[in-house]
Amino acid sequence: MIVNFLKNLFGIIHYNNKIDFFIYKKLRSYLPKNQYPRPPKSIAIDPCSVCNLSCPACVACKSTPGFVSAKLSFDKFKLMLDKMPFARKLLLCNWGEPFLNDDIFKMIRYAKTKKLYVSLYSNLNIKKNDCFYTELALSGLDDLLISIDGITQENYEKFRAGGNLSLVFENIKKINAAKEKKSSSLPKLYWHLTINKYNEKEITQAAAKAEELKMQFMPNYIILYHRVIPIDESEMAEKNSYWLPAKNKNYYHWQKNKPYRLDYPCQNLFLTVFFDPEGNCFPCRYLSDVKDSFGNILREDFFDIWYGKKFLSARSLFLKNKTLPVNKAATICDSCVMHKKY
Ligand code: SF4
Ligand code: SF4
Repeated sequence: MIVNFLKNLFGIIHYNNKIDFFIYKKLRSYLPKNQYPRPPKSIAIDPCSVCNLSCPACVACKSTPGFVSAKLSFDKFKLMLDKMPFARKLLLCNWGEPFLNDDIFKMIRYAKTKKLYVSLYSNLNIKKNDCFYTELALSGLDDLLISIDGITQENYEKFRAGGNLSLVFENIKKINAAKEKKSSSLPKLYWHLTINKYNEKEITQAAAKAEELKMQFMPNYIILYHRVIPIDESEMAEKNSYWLPAKNKNYYHWQKNKPYRLDYPCQNLFLTVFFDPEGNCFPCRYLSDVKDSFGNILREDFFDIWYGKKFLSARSLFLKNKTLPVNKAATICDSCVMHKKY
Protein backbone atom coordinates (compact mmCIF):
# COMPACT_ATOMS: atom_id res chain seq x y z
CA MET A 1 0.00 0.00 0.00
CA ILE A 2 2.74 2.43 0.99
CA VAL A 3 4.54 1.73 -2.29
CA ASN A 4 1.43 2.50 -4.29
CA PHE A 5 0.86 5.59 -2.19
CA LEU A 6 4.31 6.89 -3.10
CA LYS A 7 3.99 5.81 -6.72
CA ASN A 8 0.81 7.76 -7.07
CA LEU A 9 2.06 10.75 -5.14
CA PHE A 10 4.83 11.15 -7.65
CA GLY A 11 2.50 10.80 -10.57
CA ILE A 12 3.01 7.30 -11.98
CA ILE A 13 0.76 7.03 -14.97
CA HIS A 14 -1.08 3.74 -14.48
CA TYR A 15 -2.69 2.12 -11.46
CA ASN A 16 -3.22 -1.54 -10.71
CA ASN A 17 -6.57 -1.88 -9.00
CA LYS A 18 -9.57 0.06 -7.77
CA ILE A 19 -7.96 0.93 -4.43
CA ASP A 20 -4.92 2.32 -6.24
CA PHE A 21 -7.21 4.32 -8.49
CA PHE A 22 -9.13 5.74 -5.54
CA ILE A 23 -5.94 6.83 -3.80
CA TYR A 24 -4.59 8.18 -7.07
CA LYS A 25 -7.66 10.39 -7.58
CA LYS A 26 -7.69 11.63 -3.99
CA LEU A 27 -3.99 12.33 -3.80
CA ARG A 28 -3.84 14.14 -7.06
CA SER A 29 -6.79 16.31 -6.22
CA TYR A 30 -5.10 17.46 -2.96
CA LEU A 31 -1.68 18.24 -4.35
CA PRO A 32 -0.92 21.96 -4.08
CA LYS A 33 -1.34 23.77 -7.36
CA ASN A 34 -0.64 27.09 -8.96
CA GLN A 35 -0.39 28.37 -12.50
CA TYR A 36 3.37 27.81 -12.53
CA PRO A 37 3.85 24.24 -11.31
CA ARG A 38 7.18 22.48 -11.30
CA PRO A 39 7.98 20.67 -14.55
CA PRO A 40 6.28 17.25 -14.71
CA LYS A 41 7.96 14.10 -13.43
CA SER A 42 5.69 11.92 -15.58
CA ILE A 43 5.73 12.39 -19.31
CA ALA A 44 4.35 10.36 -22.22
CA ILE A 45 5.81 10.14 -25.69
CA ASP A 46 3.99 8.25 -28.42
CA PRO A 47 6.53 6.32 -30.52
CA CYS A 48 3.95 5.04 -32.99
CA SER A 49 0.38 6.15 -33.55
CA VAL A 50 -0.10 3.54 -36.27
CA CYS A 51 -2.02 0.46 -35.15
CA ASN A 52 -2.27 -3.10 -36.46
CA LEU A 53 -5.76 -3.66 -35.01
CA SER A 54 -9.11 -2.02 -35.73
CA CYS A 55 -10.91 -2.10 -32.42
CA PRO A 56 -14.48 -0.90 -33.08
CA ALA A 57 -14.60 0.99 -29.79
CA CYS A 58 -11.22 2.66 -30.28
CA VAL A 59 -11.72 6.30 -29.37
CA ALA A 60 -8.26 7.16 -30.55
CA CYS A 61 -7.57 7.75 -33.95
CA LYS A 62 -8.31 6.78 -37.44
CA SER A 63 -11.63 8.62 -37.63
CA THR A 64 -10.55 11.65 -35.58
CA PRO A 65 -9.91 14.76 -37.68
CA GLY A 66 -6.43 16.15 -37.12
CA PHE A 67 -5.09 12.85 -35.78
CA VAL A 68 -1.41 12.36 -36.64
CA SER A 69 -0.71 8.80 -37.79
CA ALA A 70 3.07 8.41 -37.72
CA LYS A 71 6.13 6.69 -36.30
CA LEU A 72 8.62 8.65 -34.23
CA SER A 73 12.26 8.58 -35.33
CA PHE A 74 14.95 7.92 -32.73
CA ASP A 75 16.60 11.28 -33.41
CA LYS A 76 13.38 13.14 -32.66
CA PHE A 77 12.79 11.01 -29.56
CA LYS A 78 16.28 11.86 -28.30
CA LEU A 79 15.76 15.55 -28.96
CA MET A 80 12.45 15.46 -27.06
CA LEU A 81 13.87 13.61 -24.08
CA ASP A 82 16.96 15.81 -23.91
CA LYS A 83 14.69 18.82 -23.52
CA MET A 84 13.06 17.27 -20.42
CA PRO A 85 15.85 16.29 -18.00
CA PHE A 86 13.46 16.72 -15.04
CA ALA A 87 11.35 13.69 -16.10
CA ARG A 88 11.46 10.55 -13.95
CA LYS A 89 8.77 8.38 -15.55
CA LEU A 90 8.11 7.78 -19.20
CA LEU A 91 5.01 6.23 -20.71
CA LEU A 92 6.23 5.19 -24.14
CA CYS A 93 2.89 4.91 -25.92
CA ASN A 94 -0.46 6.59 -26.33
CA TRP A 95 -2.36 5.72 -29.50
CA GLY A 96 -1.35 2.75 -31.65
CA GLU A 97 1.06 -0.16 -31.18
CA PRO A 98 4.54 0.83 -29.91
CA PHE A 99 6.24 -2.38 -31.07
CA LEU A 100 5.55 -1.40 -34.69
CA ASN A 101 8.34 1.14 -34.28
CA ASP A 102 11.65 -0.64 -35.05
CA ASP A 103 13.56 1.86 -32.89
CA ILE A 104 11.56 1.07 -29.76
CA PHE A 105 14.39 -0.69 -27.90
CA LYS A 106 16.85 2.03 -28.83
CA MET A 107 14.41 4.50 -27.29
CA ILE A 108 13.94 2.43 -24.13
CA ARG A 109 17.68 2.00 -23.70
CA TYR A 110 18.24 5.72 -24.16
CA ALA A 111 15.52 6.52 -21.61
CA LYS A 112 17.16 4.10 -19.17
CA THR A 113 20.50 5.93 -19.51
CA LYS A 114 18.58 8.90 -18.11
CA LYS A 115 17.31 6.73 -15.23
CA LEU A 116 13.68 6.96 -16.27
CA TYR A 117 11.07 4.43 -15.17
CA VAL A 118 9.66 3.23 -18.51
CA SER A 119 6.25 1.64 -19.17
CA LEU A 120 4.28 0.85 -22.29
CA TYR A 121 1.00 -0.70 -23.37
CA SER A 122 0.90 -3.19 -26.25
CA ASN A 123 -1.72 -5.41 -27.91
CA LEU A 124 1.18 -7.87 -28.55
CA ASN A 125 -0.28 -8.97 -31.89
CA ILE A 126 3.18 -9.07 -33.36
CA LYS A 127 5.27 -11.71 -35.10
CA LYS A 128 8.93 -11.32 -34.13
CA ASN A 129 12.02 -13.52 -34.06
CA ASP A 130 13.86 -14.71 -30.94
CA CYS A 131 16.23 -11.71 -31.00
CA PHE A 132 13.26 -9.43 -30.35
CA TYR A 133 12.39 -11.23 -27.12
CA THR A 134 16.01 -11.31 -25.96
CA GLU A 135 16.29 -7.60 -26.66
CA LEU A 136 13.05 -6.97 -24.77
CA ALA A 137 14.28 -8.89 -21.73
CA LEU A 138 17.52 -6.92 -21.74
CA SER A 139 16.10 -3.52 -22.68
CA GLY A 140 15.38 -2.39 -19.12
CA LEU A 141 11.69 -1.74 -19.87
CA ASP A 142 10.06 -1.70 -16.43
CA ASP A 143 6.38 -2.39 -17.14
CA LEU A 144 4.75 -4.03 -20.13
CA LEU A 145 0.98 -3.77 -20.00
CA ILE A 146 -0.71 -6.08 -22.47
CA SER A 147 -4.29 -5.47 -23.58
CA ILE A 148 -6.08 -8.84 -23.51
CA ASP A 149 -9.84 -8.43 -23.50
CA GLY A 150 -10.99 -12.02 -23.11
CA ILE A 151 -9.97 -15.60 -22.66
CA THR A 152 -11.59 -16.99 -25.82
CA GLN A 153 -10.89 -15.82 -29.36
CA GLU A 154 -14.60 -15.15 -29.93
CA ASN A 155 -14.92 -12.69 -27.07
CA TYR A 156 -11.41 -11.28 -27.33
CA GLU A 157 -11.86 -10.19 -30.94
CA LYS A 158 -15.15 -8.48 -30.19
CA PHE A 159 -13.09 -5.59 -28.83
CA ARG A 160 -9.63 -6.31 -30.29
CA ALA A 161 -10.82 -6.65 -33.89
CA GLY A 162 -8.21 -8.29 -36.09
CA GLY A 163 -6.38 -9.64 -33.04
CA ASN A 164 -5.19 -13.21 -32.57
CA LEU A 165 -5.40 -14.39 -28.96
CA SER A 166 -3.23 -17.52 -29.45
CA LEU A 167 -0.48 -15.33 -30.90
CA VAL A 168 -0.64 -13.07 -27.84
CA PHE A 169 -0.33 -16.03 -25.44
CA GLU A 170 2.51 -17.48 -27.52
CA ASN A 171 4.33 -14.13 -27.36
CA ILE A 172 3.90 -13.86 -23.59
CA LYS A 173 5.43 -17.31 -23.19
CA LYS A 174 8.35 -16.18 -25.35
CA ILE A 175 8.85 -13.11 -23.15
CA ASN A 176 8.85 -15.26 -20.01
CA ALA A 177 11.33 -17.70 -21.61
CA ALA A 178 13.65 -14.85 -22.64
CA LYS A 179 13.47 -13.29 -19.16
CA GLU A 180 14.33 -16.62 -17.61
CA LYS A 181 17.18 -17.27 -20.03
CA LYS A 182 18.68 -13.85 -19.39
CA SER A 183 17.90 -13.96 -15.66
CA SER A 184 15.97 -10.72 -16.01
CA SER A 185 13.04 -9.77 -13.79
CA LEU A 186 12.00 -7.10 -16.32
CA PRO A 187 9.73 -6.20 -17.91
CA LYS A 188 7.05 -6.85 -15.31
CA LEU A 189 4.01 -8.12 -17.18
CA TYR A 190 0.44 -6.90 -16.66
CA TRP A 191 -2.77 -8.31 -18.14
CA HIS A 192 -4.94 -5.31 -18.90
CA LEU A 193 -8.52 -6.45 -19.41
CA THR A 194 -11.16 -3.96 -20.50
CA ILE A 195 -14.41 -5.32 -19.10
CA ASN A 196 -17.28 -5.43 -21.59
CA LYS A 197 -20.56 -7.28 -22.05
CA TYR A 198 -18.88 -10.21 -23.81
CA ASN A 199 -15.88 -10.92 -21.61
CA GLU A 200 -17.29 -10.20 -18.15
CA LYS A 201 -18.12 -13.86 -17.61
CA GLU A 202 -14.46 -14.71 -18.27
CA ILE A 203 -12.90 -12.48 -15.62
CA THR A 204 -12.17 -15.27 -13.12
CA GLN A 205 -10.64 -17.49 -15.80
CA ALA A 206 -8.61 -14.56 -17.11
CA ALA A 207 -7.24 -13.87 -13.62
CA ALA A 208 -6.18 -17.53 -13.31
CA LYS A 209 -4.57 -17.47 -16.75
CA ALA A 210 -2.72 -14.27 -15.84
CA GLU A 211 -1.24 -16.00 -12.81
CA GLU A 212 -0.22 -18.98 -14.94
CA LEU A 213 1.55 -16.57 -17.33
CA LYS A 214 3.25 -14.73 -14.44
CA MET A 215 1.32 -11.57 -15.03
CA GLN A 216 -0.36 -9.14 -12.70
CA PHE A 217 -4.08 -8.94 -13.48
CA MET A 218 -5.57 -5.49 -14.11
CA PRO A 219 -9.28 -5.51 -14.99
CA ASN A 220 -10.43 -2.10 -16.07
CA TYR A 221 -13.54 -0.22 -17.12
CA ILE A 222 -14.45 0.42 -20.73
CA ILE A 223 -14.31 3.90 -22.26
CA LEU A 224 -16.48 4.24 -25.34
CA TYR A 225 -16.32 7.94 -26.03
CA HIS A 226 -14.01 10.85 -26.44
CA ARG A 227 -13.63 11.94 -22.82
CA VAL A 228 -13.51 15.68 -23.13
CA ILE A 229 -16.39 16.50 -25.50
CA PRO A 230 -20.14 16.03 -24.89
CA ILE A 231 -21.61 12.83 -26.28
CA ASP A 232 -24.48 12.51 -28.73
CA GLU A 233 -27.34 10.84 -26.81
CA SER A 234 -28.40 8.39 -29.54
CA GLU A 235 -24.83 7.31 -30.24
CA MET A 236 -24.34 6.84 -26.53
CA ALA A 237 -27.46 4.69 -26.13
CA GLU A 238 -26.42 2.50 -29.05
CA LYS A 239 -22.85 1.98 -27.83
CA ASN A 240 -23.91 1.46 -24.22
CA SER A 241 -26.39 -1.26 -25.12
CA TYR A 242 -23.81 -3.02 -27.32
CA TRP A 243 -20.81 -2.83 -24.99
CA LEU A 244 -21.60 -2.18 -21.37
CA PRO A 245 -21.29 -5.16 -19.04
CA ALA A 246 -24.41 -6.19 -17.12
CA LYS A 247 -22.75 -6.90 -13.78
CA ASN A 248 -19.65 -4.74 -13.51
CA LYS A 249 -21.32 -1.37 -13.36
CA ASN A 250 -18.77 0.47 -11.23
CA TYR A 251 -17.75 2.90 -13.88
CA TYR A 252 -21.05 3.72 -15.51
CA HIS A 253 -20.56 7.38 -14.68
CA TRP A 254 -18.15 7.57 -17.60
CA GLN A 255 -20.92 6.63 -19.94
CA LYS A 256 -23.44 9.28 -18.91
CA ASN A 257 -23.91 12.84 -20.05
CA LYS A 258 -23.42 15.02 -17.02
CA PRO A 259 -22.19 18.63 -16.84
CA TYR A 260 -18.88 17.16 -15.63
CA ARG A 261 -17.86 13.55 -15.48
CA LEU A 262 -15.58 14.06 -12.48
CA ASP A 263 -16.40 16.48 -9.68
CA TYR A 264 -12.83 17.57 -8.98
CA PRO A 265 -10.49 19.86 -10.96
CA CYS A 266 -8.27 18.59 -13.73
CA GLN A 267 -4.87 17.50 -12.43
CA ASN A 268 -3.29 16.70 -15.79
CA LEU A 269 -2.49 20.32 -16.51
CA PHE A 270 -0.28 20.47 -13.42
CA LEU A 271 1.39 17.07 -13.43
CA THR A 272 1.90 15.43 -16.82
CA VAL A 273 2.36 16.10 -20.48
CA PHE A 274 1.83 14.04 -23.65
CA PHE A 275 3.55 14.19 -27.03
CA ASP A 276 2.52 12.67 -30.35
CA PRO A 277 5.14 11.32 -32.80
CA GLU A 278 5.42 14.75 -34.45
CA GLY A 279 6.27 16.46 -31.18
CA ASN A 280 2.85 18.08 -30.67
CA CYS A 281 2.27 18.64 -26.98
CA PHE A 282 -1.05 17.82 -25.30
CA PRO A 283 -2.03 18.45 -21.70
CA CYS A 284 -3.71 15.05 -21.32
CA ARG A 285 -3.84 11.63 -22.90
CA TYR A 286 -7.39 12.07 -24.21
CA LEU A 287 -6.45 14.53 -26.94
CA SER A 288 -5.21 13.61 -30.39
CA ASP A 289 -6.31 16.41 -32.74
CA VAL A 290 -3.30 18.54 -33.62
CA LYS A 291 -5.44 21.69 -33.46
CA ASP A 292 -5.81 21.06 -29.69
CA SER A 293 -2.07 20.95 -29.10
CA PHE A 294 -0.40 23.42 -26.71
CA GLY A 295 2.84 23.66 -28.66
CA ASN A 296 5.52 21.55 -30.34
CA ILE A 297 8.57 20.43 -28.43
CA LEU A 298 10.62 19.83 -31.57
CA ARG A 299 10.29 23.50 -32.47
CA GLU A 300 10.01 25.15 -29.04
CA ASP A 301 11.67 25.04 -25.67
CA PHE A 302 9.76 22.88 -23.15
CA PHE A 303 9.39 25.72 -20.65
CA ASP A 304 7.98 28.07 -23.29
CA ILE A 305 5.15 25.54 -23.67
CA TRP A 306 4.75 24.54 -20.00
CA TYR A 307 4.60 28.18 -18.86
CA GLY A 308 3.10 29.43 -22.14
CA LYS A 309 -0.19 31.21 -22.59
CA LYS A 310 -2.20 28.07 -23.32
CA PHE A 311 -1.10 26.15 -20.23
CA LEU A 312 -1.51 29.23 -18.00
CA SER A 313 -4.98 29.94 -19.36
CA ALA A 314 -6.11 26.32 -19.09
CA ARG A 315 -4.76 25.95 -15.54
CA SER A 316 -6.55 29.10 -14.48
CA LEU A 317 -9.88 27.34 -15.15
CA PHE A 318 -9.17 25.03 -12.22
CA LEU A 319 -7.70 27.43 -9.68
CA LYS A 320 -9.51 29.58 -7.17
CA ASN A 321 -6.62 32.01 -6.82
CA LYS A 322 -5.24 32.72 -10.22
CA THR A 323 -3.45 35.32 -12.25
CA LEU A 324 -4.74 35.12 -15.78
CA PRO A 325 -2.28 35.89 -18.57
CA VAL A 326 -2.80 39.33 -20.11
CA ASN A 327 -4.23 37.77 -23.26
CA LYS A 328 -6.09 34.63 -22.30
CA ALA A 329 -5.71 31.89 -24.88
CA ALA A 330 -8.65 29.70 -25.87
CA THR A 331 -7.97 25.97 -25.46
CA ILE A 332 -9.86 22.70 -25.64
CA CYS A 333 -9.96 22.80 -21.81
CA ASP A 334 -12.52 25.64 -21.97
CA SER A 335 -15.16 23.28 -23.30
CA CYS A 336 -13.90 20.06 -21.68
CA VAL A 337 -16.65 18.16 -19.88
CA MET A 338 -14.28 15.92 -17.96
CA HIS A 339 -13.54 17.99 -14.84
CA LYS A 340 -15.41 20.51 -12.74
CA LYS A 341 -14.17 24.09 -13.13
CA TYR A 342 -14.19 27.03 -10.74
S1 SF4 B 1 -5.13 -1.58 -30.09
FE1 SF4 B 1 -5.56 0.39 -29.08
S2 SF4 B 1 -4.96 1.99 -30.56
FE2 SF4 B 1 -5.09 0.02 -31.68
S3 SF4 B 1 -7.15 0.07 -32.57
FE3 SF4 B 1 -7.23 -1.05 -30.60
S4 SF4 B 1 -7.82 0.51 -29.04
FE4 SF4 B 1 -7.13 1.60 -30.92
S1 SF4 C 1 -9.31 20.09 -18.81
FE1 SF4 C 1 -9.95 18.34 -20.07
S2 SF4 C 1 -8.93 18.65 -22.04
FE2 SF4 C 1 -7.88 19.96 -20.54
S3 SF4 C 1 -6.19 18.73 -19.79
FE3 SF4 C 1 -7.90 18.41 -18.38
S4 SF4 C 1 -8.94 16.56 -19.13
FE4 SF4 C 1 -7.61 17.32 -20.79
